[in-house]
Amino acid sequence: MKRTPQSQAPADADARRAIKPVICYPVDTLPEPNRATYAAARKTMELTDEVIVPPRDAQTFHVPSGNFFRIVSVDGPQVGDLNLWSADDLSERFYSGKTRALHGTHLSTGDHMWSSFPHMRPMATITYDTLDWYGFDADGGGVHDVIGTRCDPYTSRLLSGQDYHYCCHSNLTRALAFETGLPLHRAEAHVHDVLNVFMCTGFTHEKHQYFMKASPVRPGDYLEFFAEIDLLGALSTCPGGDCSTEHSSDTATCYPLRVEIYRPDSKMLLRWVPPEPSAYTRSHGV
Ligand SMILES: [Zn+2]
Repeated sequence: MKRTPQSQAPADADARRAIKPVICYPVDTLPEPNRATYAAARKTMELTDEVIVPPRDAQTFHVPSGNFFRIVSVDGPQVGDLNLWSADDLSERFYSGKTRALHGTHLSTGDHMWSSFPHMRPMATITYDTLDWYGFDADGGGVHDVIGTRCDPYTSRLLSGQDYHYCCHSNLTRALAFETGLPLHRAEAHVHDVLNVFMCTGFTHEKHQYFMKASPVRPGDYLEFFAEIDLLGALSTCPGGDCSTEHSSDTATCYPLRVEIYRPDSKMLLRWVPPEPSAYTRSHGV
């Protein structure tokens, strides 16, 4: 964390620090999400399926491309950890780090969830966010981050010396193993960094440490996505509940989350083109 420098600052240290930043990945050249098409399609959508995720557990769900899905708060404030895979190929999965590099630390309406290399295409696009009013608070906190990973039994063991089996990582592993029939250790290898749905997080001003605070989500709030490809999803109800105090334990009050799948009128999607995998040649200079 570089708080106690061992190296002397050079004479031009202030000048070096004063250089203006540039955006690493300007997104001006990304195709704009066709908001008008999504908006028209979502007006026609009808509920086709729903899945309840019990507290401190995870469930899988399927969303055909061209359909919508919502993660809905029910009963009380609860954070959800979301994994996405291509329904046809578990090796194509949500790439949290690249999504963060492109869209920033927290996602909302109009942002894509990008898939891993070599596919690198939008898996889903966020089409509605009832918490978009939150913005960034005075602590620098925002909602729906791609900066955290997922709570897991390895870090818990490292920091507390205890084994806890209902972290999001283990919840997602159990759910994927049950869905696919894979043994636990093979399913675990497919679990990846998440979109932290409804979680309120940021970095402290002083030490830039990852923090969480009570989620502003309330029953009835939802985050809505358009499935750009056929998706297998898994959602964990974090044992941290609203993540106001701690996770990786049975201490916090936890609530279920509901996943709702919606099918729009297909005529509304005539101008929508499903995304192709990246056109990069994969020759890597050879
Ligand atoms: Zn968690």
